[in-house]
Amino acid sequence: MPNELTEQLRGELLSREKEKLYRHRLALESPQQTHVSIAGCEYLSFCSNDYLGLANHPQLIAAACDGARRYGVGAGASHLISGHSSAHHALEEALARFTGFPQALLFSTGYMANAGVVTALAGRGDTIFADKLNHASLNDAAVVSRAKFIRYPHLDLAALERQLAVSQAKRKLLITDAVFSMDGDVAPVAALLALCEKYDAWLMLDDAHGFGVLGSRGRGTGSQFAIDSQRIIYMATLGKAAGVFGAFVAAEREIIETLIQRARSYIYTTATPPMLSHVLLKSLAMIEGDEWRREKLTQLIVQLKKEVGSLRWQLLPSATPIQALIIGENDKTLEISATLREKGILVPAIRPPTVARGTSRLRISLSASHDMADIARLGAVLRNLDNNFVSR
Ligand SMILES: *Cc1c(COP(=O)(O)O)cnc(C)c1O
Repeated sequence: MPNELTEQLRGELLSREKEKLYRHRLALESPQQTHVSIAGCEYLSFCSNDYLGLANHPQLIAAACDGARRYGVGAGASHLISGHSSAHHALEEALARFTGFPQALLFSTGYMANAGVVTALAGRGDTIFADKLNHASLNDAAVVSRAKFIRYPHLDLAALERQLAVSQAKRKLLITDAVFSMDGDVAPVAALLALCEKYDAWLMLDDAHGFGVLGSRGRGTGSQFAIDSQRIIYMATLGKAAGVFGAFVAAEREIIETLIQRARSYIYTTATPPMLSHVLLKSLAMIEGDEWRREKLTQLIVQLKKEVGSLRWQLLPSATPIQALIIGENDKTLEISATLREKGILVPAIRPPTVARGTSRLRISLSASHDMADIARLGAVLRNLDNNFVSR
């Protein structure tokens, strides 16, 4: 029997639908790769964060089978009880060595890593400074922490400095996406670090989209600063370029030890299956060794810019595999995404509240497994849509 609550929800859902903000899920029948199958049809996909094309790599699948035989499929407990495996431990050591930080700590997801770091390091009496376009998980973490939460306009370092300069907070924590997830642009890490030095703040970098992709050998956006600064808390995810699942935080020993003692999203949850750490050790070796994957991405980005350069819609400036084609209105963005889908190409329409109103976009994400013909196919359909748009 419908009650008042379900009636209320029905109303909210309907208004969402009217505003073209309703979200639907796709159910992939194939592994995550550039050609996926959904409801029996094959699509060319520009939707995943599998930037290096590792999510379905045969060597990682083999490592998963081997890992399952060695460690089973479940951790069976949290890290502080008996769920911490030698596989987790070996991966943490490998990640610290790879990124150049003294110590690393695994979390189940990036969402949980951000929640854990921010709430363990900031609380009442402290202030968090955050870029307006940061990932939702960082914003949620800041709200939960009960610290004062100040958001500055995207990349506006002058505004940030004004806020830092007047702050009386006991502890200051500056948090930023290193690569912004919906725009693909990169934070000015050196300038942010200089501000942190000047105003005695910590710098937390969320490098979900840079790890494996940017930096020497894919070490990520923060790696070049790791040796110079003890102020950086580096977070990266392992479900994107690394192709598997999970996340880690790398920083000074005291910070990592504090997280082990205090990060609630680390302590009060079951450890990830150790077999995944076993796979990730192999994935890390491929990230480090397969320079060609990053070179291929660079070529694909150049090619995409050529393909869509003449369109009425503009790509945001981005040197990363995240390429945002700004359309503007929700319905137009959805329409283009739907037409692409009819032509067998998946490009997600990203709408508010994920991005600001009036900036709805196609978020094209590239993978080293794409080839030039894939990019050409996408470009041809978009140009065709652009021409039809004129004649209407
Ligand atoms: C994906 C993402 C996260 C969350 O990582 P998960 O491992 O998927 O939970 C955090 N921050 C940014 C910037 C992301 O893009």
